[in-house]
Amino acid sequence: MSIEKKYDYIIVGSGPGGATIAKELSRKTKGVLIVEYGPRFTKTGAMKVTPIFLDKEKRDLRTDGGIWIGRSRVLGGSSYVAMGNAVTPPEKIFKEWRIDLSEELKSARRDLHVNPMPSHLIGEGTKRINEGAKSLGWEMKPSPKCVDFSKCISCGQCMFGCPTKAKWTALDFIDEAIEDGAELLLNTEVKHVLHKNGKAIGISTIKKGSKLEIYGKNVILSAGALETPRILQNSGISEAGKGLALDVFQTTYGYTEDVGMQNEIILATYLDKFIEDKELFPAPYMYIPLYLVRDIDGYAPVKISIANQIKIALRAKRINAKRLIGMMTKIRDEISGEVGNDGTIRKTLTKRDKEKLDEAHEINKKILIAAGANPKTILKGIYESGHPCCTAPIGKIVDENQETEIKGLFVSDASIFPSPLGMPPILTIVAFSKRLARYLLSCV
Ligand SMILES: Cc1cc2nc3c(=O)[nH]c(=O)nc-3n(C[C@H](O)[C@H](O)[C@H](O)COP(=O)(O)OP(=O)(O)OC[C@H]3O[C@@H](n4cnc5c(N)ncnc54)[C@H](O)[C@@H]3O)c2cc1C
Ligand code: SF4
Repeated sequence: MSIEKKYDYIIVGSGPGGATIAKELSRKTKGVLIVEYGPRFTKTGAMKVTPIFLDKEKRDLRTDGGIWIGRSRVLGGSSYVAMGNAVTPPEKIFKEWRIDLSEELKSARRDLHVNPMPSHLIGEGTKRINEGAKSLGWEMKPSPKCVDFSKCISCGQCMFGCPTKAKWTALDFIDEAIEDGAELLLNTEVKHVLHKNGKAIGISTIKKGSKLEIYGKNVILSAGALETPRILQNSGISEAGKGLALDVFQTTYGYTEDVGMQNEIILATYLDKFIEDKELFPAPYMYIPLYLVRDIDGYAPVKISIANQIKIALRAKRINAKRLIGMMTKIRDEISGEVGNDGTIRKTLTKRDKEKLDEAHEINKKILIAAGANPKTILKGIYESGHPCCTAPIGKIVDENQETEIKGLFVSDASIFPSPLGMPPILTIVAFSKRLARYLLSCV
């Protein structure tokens, strides 16, 4: 089966990468189609949102080296579950990449209404951590967030949707694109790109179990750094997915006598002191008890069956989260591992990655103890990540205009990063998509 209409731009995926392209193109031109694997999801709250982290068999996603990966495959992509952090990376990274994104980053900050976290919304536990860090000579800064603070009720549930829509998500851009005439096809999985004589002519998808072909002049893959390389491989670009970075992070916790961080807005502040030289991004961090079971209790079943959910809930009751404070540190991990065509993700930490995470744990431990945590209660969480990238990098799989060896086939998501940021990437992804939209419009 195929759709008769021929589109000018077919955008695959609706996360920050795809949504930005859709918005920018639709403002100036017609003939834009967004194709999204997942549904439009609007529920909020931990119990309702947790299933979108899981696959159809209710398993969570981990690499073969045991690194847990968070992502959500719904309209808006992982921005739906993001914490609202909108950080501009240091100049050093763009120099390394030899790419100037300064204008696009400025425009992205404006569009996402990025503002520093106001002090009246910073929780007591985080304030205590800030004081602890300060006593060590380390000044925590308010995190820049893409949150409309006038609508924020400080519920601390940013990872589980946002009940007041205070947090920006890519859905905001998708809705703007639709208002400007873009079409949207939900629950449709793109399998490969159709091409003829070295030029993209459309996509092959599966919708409701049946094959559906859609034709267009340009195809932009924004399916995220774990799925875009698989579509590229299926389309004949076999080198895609060889190499992966994740901005791996690890949590550190400690019990205090009098303060905890439950229901606080986490990552409300961050320490920029170690970003440039040590490539570490430390920030106050806390999970809800149901998720703490994994870190504190070490109980982490891959499959979240009903029986396992009951076990998790019982174990969560034993954790005295009201007296727990925590930190996490993201690292700029080395590009290693591979995204396989069957969906397997091969990635173990290198010696250098482990050294960075160990150093991060020592920094976090010092801060938590200075903040009042009992040194005997300090513990580490598992290796985690939510920022897959570098699987179709500029200079290797795409050229500087983000075009692949197949003409008219572009990539615009975290896949194209030449190296990882080691910090929240949404702003940079939006900036790259703005840059590509400008280029595409200049080619008309
Ligand atoms: C819990 C969590 C918290 C985070 N917090 C922050 C934060 O505070 N700040 C920040 O900057 N970053 C944060 N991130 C990271 C950020 O959300 C991601 O880096 C970002 O969303 C990636 O954007 P993307 O466009 O590359 O891909 P994605 O957001 O992954 O979007 C890809 C889209 O493509 C769709 N898709 C996939 N395969 C197909 C297919 N075959 N056919 C059709 N559609 C497909 C997916 O369903 C998805 O909608 C967080 C991530 C997680 C998991
Ligand atoms: S803390 Fe604010 S931004 Fe986060 S989910 Fe609650 S209302 Fe939304």
